[in-house]
Amino acid sequence: MYVIEVVPLSVGGSVDTLSYFSSIPYERGSVITIPIRARDTDAVVMSALPVSALKTVLRAATFTLRKLPPQIIVGHLLPTFLALVDTIALERAQHQTDVLSALVPKRRELLLHASTSTRRSDMLPSVQLLINTEAGRFDEYQRIVRESFAKHESVMCVVPTLRSVEYAVRALSSGIEKYVVVLRGGKAAKAEREQLARLSETHPLLIITTPTYAYLERSDIGTTIIESSRSKGYKTIKKPYLDHVHALLTHARLAHRNVIIGDLVPHAEHMVALRERRFEAYGELPKRVELPGELTVVHQKKDHDGTIPFTLFSEQMLAGIEDVLAKRGRVFLLSARRGLSPLVACADCGNIFRDAESGAPLSLHRTMKNGVEERWLVSQTSGARQPMRDVCPSCGSWRLRERGIGIQHVETELRKALPDVAITVFDHTTATTEGKARKIADIFYAIHSQVMLGTPLALPYLEKPIDASGVVSMDSLLAVPSWRQNEEVFATLLALREKTDGPVWAQTRHRPDDSVLAQAAKGSLSGFYDEEIEARKTYSYPPYGSFVLLSYQGTKSAVDAIEVELKERFGAYGILCYGMPPGDDGRVLRRGLLRFPRESWPDDAIVDAIRALPPTIKVEFDPERIV
Ligand SMILES: [Zn+2]
Repeated sequence: MYVIEVVPLSVGGSVDTLSYFSSIPYERGSVITIPIRARDTDAVVMSALPVSALKTVLRAATFTLRKLPPQIIVGHLLPTFLALVDTIALERAQHQTDVLSALVPKRRELLLHASTSTRRSDMLPSVQLLINTEAGRFDEYQRIVRESFAKHESVMCVVPTLRSVEYAVRALSSGIEKYVVVLRGGKAAKAEREQLARLSETHPLLIITTPTYAYLERSDIGTTIIESSRSKGYKTIKKPYLDHVHALLTHARLAHRNVIIGDLVPHAEHMVALRERRFEAYGELPKRVELPGELTVVHQKKDHDGTIPFTLFSEQMLAGIEDVLAKRGRVFLLSARRGLSPLVACADCGNIFRDAESGAPLSLHRTMKNGVEERWLVSQTSGARQPMRDVCPSCGSWRLRERGIGIQHVETELRKALPDVAITVFDHTTATTEGKARKIADIFYAIHSQVMLGTPLALPYLEKPIDASGVVSMDSLLAVPSWRQNEEVFATLLALREKTDGPVWAQTRHRPDDSVLAQAAKGSLSGFYDEEIEARKTYSYPPYGSFVLLSYQGTKSAVDAIEVELKERFGAYGILCYGMPPGDDGRVLRRGLLRFPRESWPDDAIVDAIRALPPTIKVEFDPERIV
């Protein structure tokens, strides 16, 4: 008798792995059919172990396993795919079952389709870095598709979001409409099924998809394009916290595909790979990029002594905006933080209001109900909200202070400064769906003399040139505590310069001489990466070192017990434990940080130790924020 563990392939809704008794040891990767909630569901066999090997585990189990009736094997995952799951699970210190659940196409048609063969090639596949503006990249992609079709090869073009699927279809389909397959993911719409059915056509195809379907196989796919490689759309925000760019690169290597990584500002890790000759440059690598928008750093005078009244907008930027609007132009203003303010703190004890779940600071938001303003504390991670408190939960003080400036505050000030101007706001409260986001952008482009105020969420929707743009507060953008923040700032400024046919203002009070601003003004890629790579090396940040971040929470005594255990297991690897002050409900959130130099990662023994941790401990690999 065996115990087999399966991963159900249900679309939507999360179902954990299931275990059954079975008289047949089904092979790993077999697809069988199991009943879940009275419905037959496909499931992948992850393991089949003899009962004798699991005796102690089974005796301790509080449930009885059901017996699995004999199964018809409806398919089998390709060895490439199983190797992908194993490699990623090892390199990101996660469980194979979680990785498989996250990557496997949740549709039977695709599984069956995947049962064809993997590409056979004796050529060593290459990874090429394509650095160009969006328009420039898509010109190159068109060329790559044409050349691939001529070689009877298909191309997999992976884009990070739904909005970028639409853009890619428009930019790449012309003249080859018949051979483009578009997979948007999500619900089982009829159109989607039709597209899936087309995967069995014999002519080479251009497959445009989000990461959802990016791992499907077709034996003639020769190239995978990873477009907008630094988009946050490639990061999954739930367990196992995958980075699809890493997964796609791994998959391409195993499936013998070439990869094109496309962006204007690729991750510094990829630039390191290029300098170390693990990656190649697609075409000539630009040292400097020419972009239409001209960046001016606007130094706002400090107001410490109170002689200069605090204003959000400098005279220079306001005059510039009015000038552009008078000429019927359009202006985009970027405000990095959501809500009224990104933080609420107690003026007496210094307590910062935090989300009990993630430990991230709660931001303050405003909504209007029947003309009455309501104020909420909103979690940046889950979006959960609660009414703003009257007093500090830690000391009872009434002296609560907003810290930092959010987009809602900027909106209020902007309407005061430009009372007669049409202002559109693009943030997570107005652009709640893809349709609404597109509509806001359409209205912005339809009407002259308008200002759009947006968070970074708006940037991908600015598809046509704007006449001027500005960053309201560079200081709050630069202050985000992430080891990747300089790269974020540089990329954001270059994106604004790319999309603006005119002036780009960057207002700052504290960092007018910041070298990231200077490099962005010059468009100097080589200058920026020289400094960034040097800093990564100095501090052992990725790719020179890796982080494994463990997060756990509970009552103080529970958390203390976990920490004793962690120090015992990982003390030899120098685990660093640190924490947040207790949340409102007395629960404590703590973190354990492990750092490894790249020569010693991945290490089987450490990965096994991490996998053996209880599931209540969250495990993240190279998270962008470690505090
Ligand atoms: Zn307090």
